[in-house]
Amino acid sequence: MLTIAISKGRILKDTLPLLASVGIVPSEDLSVTRKLIIPSVDGHVNLVIIRATDVPTFVEYGAADVGIAGKDVLVEHNSDNLYEPLDLNIARCKLMTAVIKGQGMPAGKIRVATKYVSLAQQYFAQLGRQVEIIKLYGSMELAPIVGLADCIVDLVDTGNTLKANNMEPLDEIMQISSRLVVNKASMKMKHAEIKRLIDQLERVVTERR
Ligand code: AMP
Repeated sequence: MLTIAISKGRILKDTLPLLASVGIVPSEDLSVTRKLIIPSVDGHVNLVIIRATDVPTFVEYGAADVGIAGKDVLVEHNSDNLYEPLDLNIARCKLMTAVIKGQGMPAGKIRVATKYVSLAQQYFAQLGRQVEIIKLYGSMELAPIVGLADCIVDLVDTGNTLKANNMEPLDEIMQISSRLVVNKASMKMKHAEIKRLIDQLERVVTERR
């Protein structure tokens, strides 16, 4: 029996068809059920549906053998205790800086609102810019509008969220997609099962390209 941790939210709508293509189908409708552990139809897999930022933690500690998480979350989590064998090429987007439309990045020390504290710190340090990072857990776009920050660091997909809030993307920090991550002990103990899953997913990802 394998336990797979998958992220709620945006990634889920790309994750479910990918899992279905390798025969892993939840036995309940995830948009309706309140259960957090859902067996697959064939009973070979348990799916745990959790917040994206918790996926690396569950997999690192072996609460899940395998997980699917965005590269943004994995880099921010920064653990050596996970294998990352496969880029699933789903939930693609970019991590970007963004500002109020037409304002550009102010000179001098800037305030940056983000949930990616460590990624943002590294990025601005590399540019030699002095920043004050303000950690937020959501609705980053609000911060410049209400004067909380000069800029934000967030994921941009279509750009519609920025546009709707009179903001625009500036610089790309990193290309993002979701990755398969594997617990190191599980990789040894359940090697055949996990290897089969990686191979199956790899085939699907390659065919889709
Ligand atoms: P968009 O309006 O399509 O540019 O999407 C931007 C909003 O969706 C932001 O709030 C992002 O944090 C979120 N978002 C976009 N792509 C992803 C993704 N791949 N994973 C998680 N959140 C995302």
